[in-house]
Amino acid sequence: MTLVTAELVFAQDRWRRRHGFVLQGGRILATGEPRELADDYLDHEREDWGRVAVVPGCVNGHAHSFQALLRGFGDDLPFMAWRDRVLYPFSERLDADAIRTGALLDFAEMALAGVTTVVDFFYLHDHGNENDRVVIEAAKEIGLRIVLARSMYDWSGAPKRYLESPEEAVRHTRELADVVASDTRAFVQPAPHSIHAASPEMIQAGASLAEDLGVPFHIHVAEGRYEREQSLSQHGLSPVRFLDSLGVLSDRTVMVHCVWVDEDDLSVMADRGVRVIHNPSANAFLGDGVAPLREMLARRIPVALGTDGGCTNNRQSVFEEMRMAALLSKATLADASAVSAEDVLIAGTARGGEVLGLPVGRIAADHAADLVVLDLDALSLQPDATASKQVVYAMQPGAIKRVIVGGETVVEEGRLTRVDHREITAKVAEVTTGWAGPTT
Ligand SMILES: [Zn+2]
Repeated sequence: MTLVTAELVFAQDRWRRRHGFVLQGGRILATGEPRELADDYLDHEREDWGRVAVVPGCVNGHAHSFQALLRGFGDDLPFMAWRDRVLYPFSERLDADAIRTGALLDFAEMALAGVTTVVDFFYLHDHGNENDRVVIEAAKEIGLRIVLARSMYDWSGAPKRYLESPEEAVRHTRELADVVASDTRAFVQPAPHSIHAASPEMIQAGASLAEDLGVPFHIHVAEGRYEREQSLSQHGLSPVRFLDSLGVLSDRTVMVHCVWVDEDDLSVMADRGVRVIHNPSANAFLGDGVAPLREMLARRIPVALGTDGGCTNNRQSVFEEMRMAALLSKATLADASAVSAEDVLIAGTARGGEVLGLPVGRIAADHAADLVVLDLDALSLQPDATASKQVVYAMQPGAIKRVIVGGETVVEEGRLTRVDHREITAKVAEVTTGWAGPTT
């Protein structure tokens, strides 16, 4: 048992000076005033971490790890061109070794940026779970906690390796969930892809499987304008209304994106208790627009943050998403008070844990000891009196001193502790040999 004190701690969703917390076996037992904790927990070691700020590890609510290998190949193309000229043809080239390499690259970048839990929305199944297991192993190699959102995809226009029947997708997802049943670092949640890539039967199968497994399910919703227009012309309903007509909306529903939603959709979402993963950089990068974050927060819809894939963003940092979420809301509403630094800090940490149904993202009792330790002497956190604002608006990655997952240090002074980053660089070079970039 260790009683830690630090200069600044974001504990129980608030900034506190000279605060403490007690760690044991990879978990947080308690937080509070250091002196009171010392009285309550007599049999402990003491560690003073000094002039640092300790924040919960970031929860990256939406990613596609293999896409890190495709970074730069489809930049500046509209979504359909990006998908048809880059995503589909390149993803046909990836064998299990390449999938592992992409995952190592992506998860390494995330860990260095302070992510401790990642959701990988994964769909290169090849009618089985071998590739899915490779991704889970890659997260473990780096030291991250992973939720494998196992995609369920049956739109025949996509590469064959993505496709499964609803029965097959349910069976495979159950089998994978069994594999990680007793794991505290890996979790499986169903993920019917979207209303354009999963049939109504597939979406309903995903929702009822989530209920059986007692977990959330993930689905892309209203990312681009085309999806809304297609849904209105095919069903006479918006994407949110269409999903509601399928009877799949509840507090298990994790909607990814929700850029093209109107007031009526937001009311339905709030009524059904759905949760949202907001990916501001990726939505901007693909020219999809800006999701109505302030309106969602005003309706008390829980909103977490995601980076999305490494070739639609292209940075894999939730701190970056916090800044983007705040700035884009302020810019689109022409109102600097639209969303605060604390709102987005909570979205990138505590809300992520809540949305996923996992005890992560908070420095609070009974939560995992997933922590990011920031150097309060870093230039980008000055001046000290306003360091809490700097974490969202000014901080540079060099201020991240240490990243801890389940009590274990996975990043120390800007370096991965478990893997040599040069090996990952070499593997990426090997896998992408001969791939023609946009200028060649
Ligand atoms: Zn996605």
